[in-house]
Amino acid sequence: MKVAVIPGDGIGPEVVSAAMRVVEAASRRFGVPLEVKYAEAGDAALRRYGKAMPDEAWRIIDAADAVLKGPIGESAYEVTSGIRMKYVLYANIRPAKNLPGVPAIKQIDCVFVRENVEDVYIGAEYRVGDTAIALKVITGEGTRRVARVARKYAEARKRKITVVTKSNVLRVVDKFFRDVAFEELKGLEVEEMYVDAAAMELVRNPLRFDVVLTTNQYGDILTDLAAQVAGSLGLAPSANIGDSKAMFEPVHGAAFDIAGRGIANPIATILSAAMMFEWAGRADAASAIRRAVEETLAKGIATPDIGGKAKTEEVGKAVAELVERL
Ligand code: ATP
Repeated sequence: MKVAVIPGDGIGPEVVSAAMRVVEAASRRFGVPLEVKYAEAGDAALRRYGKAMPDEAWRIIDAADAVLKGPIGESAYEVTSGIRMKYVLYANIRPAKNLPGVPAIKQIDCVFVRENVEDVYIGAEYRVGDTAIALKVITGEGTRRVARVARKYAEARKRKITVVTKSNVLRVVDKFFRDVAFEELKGLEVEEMYVDAAAMELVRNPLRFDVVLTTNQYGDILTDLAAQVAGSLGLAPSANIGDSKAMFEPVHGAAFDIAGRGIANPIATILSAAMMFEWAGRADAASAIRRAVEETLAKGIATPDIGGKAKTEEVGKAVAELVERL
């Protein structure tokens, strides 16, 4: 597997370095050949080269199968959305699940499948005098392809899909998303829920959700909420999947407030790397990484955001060592 690694900004280089230790351990242990190339992108690249996505970064990603990316600071839109849009990474997969020893708001075990390249994030915004306009664009094909990804997850988990919309108010666009998704998901147990109710239910009774299929902006907001319900933003991984390329990254941002202190939680990035192995067809390496994370946390080796005393590096080292032994 050819992997382009973008360390990113803020805590990015710290969490990515810890995760790469685990990636290399999994590659050795499970015999997954890796060709790793580092690419500079983000705020630091902008200062150095005048571009948040320098041409060299695009060249490295073009040649890669997968991208493992740390969080990006101010230039997140250019880098993260830029990569999602250019390679049409149309499905954003964000699992929310409790981990051992991590204080959580509630028990939760669901997977969000968020449409990733449409909606109000296409950048069609306009100022006309005293008025500002943003276009919300939903296409049939965009909805069908992301619904097919949700179907795969639902079939593997054998439960139901909740389609989250606001179709009672957005009676054309959100209703279209709902109708196309329901059509594509025929044969499965499917329900619709409005986004405001979904926010409430995620706090009140999160276990009622299994697979959640939703549009780009609602997914953006609800997945931060779900991550916090599970314990910490520092634990939440994600995958951006397209037809030929994919990018794996933590849900959290650059967290400049704690950058450079070696205390950032690397688990979100490590679990994102597990999703990368799974995408590459190496479920053995993926599940070893997940088990190693669970065992590490169960032993109390954890960063301060989840009540531990360990440094970022120590968590990465502990997980990597377990992966080699599993
Ligand atoms: P963005 O807008 O890019 O999402 P943000 O500053 O709003 O960025 P985050 O950077 O995701 O939000 O983080 C919010 C807070 O959560 C941070 O200030 C930090 O204290 C905490 N946090 C986020 N990620 C981690 C992590 N990996 N480890 C520890 N704490 C974290």
